[in-house]
Amino acid sequence: MTDPRQPLIFDGHNDVLLKLYREGGVGGAAAFITGLSGAMDVPSAQVGGFCGGFFAVYVPSPTDLAAKYDEMSKPEYQLALPDPIGWAEAVPVVMAQAAILFELERLGALKICRNVADIRAALASGIMAAIFHIEGAEGIDADLHTLDVLYAAGLRSIGPVWSRSTIWGEGVPFRFPSSPDTGGGLTEAGMRLVKRCNTLGIMLDLSHLNEAGFWDVVRHSNAPLVATHSNAHAICTHSRNLTDAQLAAIRDSDGMVGLNFAVAFLRDDGMMRADVPLLQMLRHLDYLIDHVGEDRVGLGSDYDGAVVPKDVTRISDLPNLRQAMEQHGYGPALIAKICHENWLRVLEKTWGG
Ligand SMILES: [Zn+2]
Repeated sequence: MTDPRQPLIFDGHNDVLLKLYREGGVGGAAAFITGLSGAMDVPSAQVGGFCGGFFAVYVPSPTDLAAKYDEMSKPEYQLALPDPIGWAEAVPVVMAQAAILFELERLGALKICRNVADIRAALASGIMAAIFHIEGAEGIDADLHTLDVLYAAGLRSIGPVWSRSTIWGEGVPFRFPSSPDTGGGLTEAGMRLVKRCNTLGIMLDLSHLNEAGFWDVVRHSNAPLVATHSNAHAICTHSRNLTDAQLAAIRDSDGMVGLNFAVAFLRDDGMMRADVPLLQMLRHLDYLIDHVGEDRVGLGSDYDGAVVPKDVTRISDLPNLRQAMEQHGYGPALIAKICHENWLRVLEKTWGG
């Protein structure tokens, strides 16, 4: 490929809003333009050919992240899930992170996209395209009033649960090795949330649902099934990854899987260690393409939310991934689909334009 920054990469999941929230909030948002210490910012997007993606609003639990990573460096682990978080506690955090996203738009760092035409226009003009996404819907009330208001503000994608339980259902805990079939599925309220998202045209993200919840969405949703940041369970038997049966359902719904760069979901041994060759990412991509088809696979990096392979530490390193795909024998058309075209396809179908 002549230009290492092409084709542009549109990505299924990042946690930079959480990072900015922890590092000063709205007042510190400008650092996204001048340069941040983490995985992504505007200067590194230009170097790496990163054109945007799903920006997650996520309410953190008061657990020690370092202890979690320690535990996930063992050959087997079963992390306890943090306690549920109530609506009243979650809403201020959701508002604070959403406010950072709107501030980033005001500063000219990105454009919040409400339809695929918005994304195409952003790509054409060279501005980062952002989808307002919520990972774990603690900030939505059971009557769904908050959902309607956030939709009006630009919300276009929602994961009913992060792994912690919510009023909508149970999430999948972090276990290795483990099936994703770890508990109960969606609640009655969860089914109503699915229907309302279908009606409004909000994409449902299945990445953190357990298997029972996944099948509940299959039964109740009329939209393509999308897991924004999950990998193949056949290669890495982590509870967060997708079984062959789940991949078949995603294929049959004409949905989409975004390859998660988080090393614990990539490695055969499930360990949180960054010495992962890019070839391991290609093994997952090969497998996903085999099982869902080349029109239904993309990237879902989890940047600023996970330990990622050392050769793609930041978005400025993304040319290494394009090169690895090319060296692995992927042609230009397939690489373009994985980099961004498939995301635009599934969003067009989900949002209705
Ligand atoms: Zn996640």
